[in-house]
Amino acid sequence: MQIALVGIGKIALDQHVPALRASPDWTLAATVSRHGTVDGVPSFTGIDDMLAAHPQVEAVSLCLPPVPRFAAAQAVLRAGRHLMLEKPPGATLSEVHILQRMARDAGVSIFATWHSRMALGVAAARVWLAGRSVQSGRITWREDVRKWHPGQDWIFEAGGMGVFDPGINGLSILTEILPTPVHLTGAELDVPANRQAPIAARMSLSQGIEVDLDFRQDGPQTWDIDLQTDGGTLTLRMGGNILEVDGRPVEGQDDIMQEYPALYARMAGLVRDGASDADLSPMVLVADAFTLGRRNVVEPFEF
Ligand code: NAP
Repeated sequence: MQIALVGIGKIALDQHVPALRASPDWTLAATVSRHGTVDGVPSFTGIDDMLAAHPQVEAVSLCLPPVPRFAAAQAVLRAGRHLMLEKPPGATLSEVHILQRMARDAGVSIFATWHSRMALGVAAARVWLAGRSVQSGRITWREDVRKWHPGQDWIFEAGGMGVFDPGINGLSILTEILPTPVHLTGAELDVPANRQAPIAARMSLSQGIEVDLDFRQDGPQTWDIDLQTDGGTLTLRMGGNILEVDGRPVEGQDDIMQEYPALYARMAGLVRDGASDADLSPMVLVADAFTLGRRNVVEPFEF
């Protein structure tokens, strides 16, 4: 099947292009970006021009930041093509609800991806937690924004979500593996004086789960989830890639695909089955943090 990629920036070049080049399901047929291109692939600067020039492109994968993504997503669905969205799937929940309705009406697939759910330990963590009761837990997601989002001012603008952009990855794992849903009970957001979105945040969730997000981490990066249950302690480290139970590694995860190849394999399966997958539960937690959270003004931030 032929697919087009929109928003040729960091994640498109780091992950999507290599995953598509290795994919048995997809051929990268075109790109859309104002500046970015991919060697050997026809490039366009406007999505409508690409859709008109490539009627054989069945699916379009959007790697744009969340705010400009909605208009592009609507154009894809209006043209009757299948739609794949980078995380978070929109700037607002209602945008994604509109996209879900449009996809249903057009009879095409929509896939709101959460790449961290494809990390190596996640499926096994979900299986281990089934039937157990979570008593408390902690998500620690601390990374260096200058390393992972160099110069990306959009991330600190309204709709860019700030530290929730990576933090939502931890929440996407949590909402995937917990046997019962969580909700937000409180939050605190640290917003730099010269920015619109938080650079650090703390969230309190039901089931005694605390979330610590920080974009100012120097040295080693931390993407950990610890859950205490009535049947032992589960730890996911390295963004869901290392699973430990009661401090001991769980074996048998070697044959699982890497995150982005797994996303494109899933997209192919959805298209073949005429199905969609757009779970918004991680985004609901973030939206609720913006609704309920207390704001602290902190030091200005420059890249
Ligand atoms: P990025 O490098 O800034 O790339 C996004 C591209 O979108 C830009 O290069 C730009 O290409 C295009 N674009 C179109 N309209 C834009 C606008 N108004 N503002 C900024 N860029 C615009 O961002 P990214 O890191 O690839 O992130 C994109 C999405 O992927 C985000 O939702 C992010 O959460 C997700 N993601 C990122 C990472 C990561 O490590 N960086 C990891 C996983 C997921 P043109 O100028 O050529 O149009």
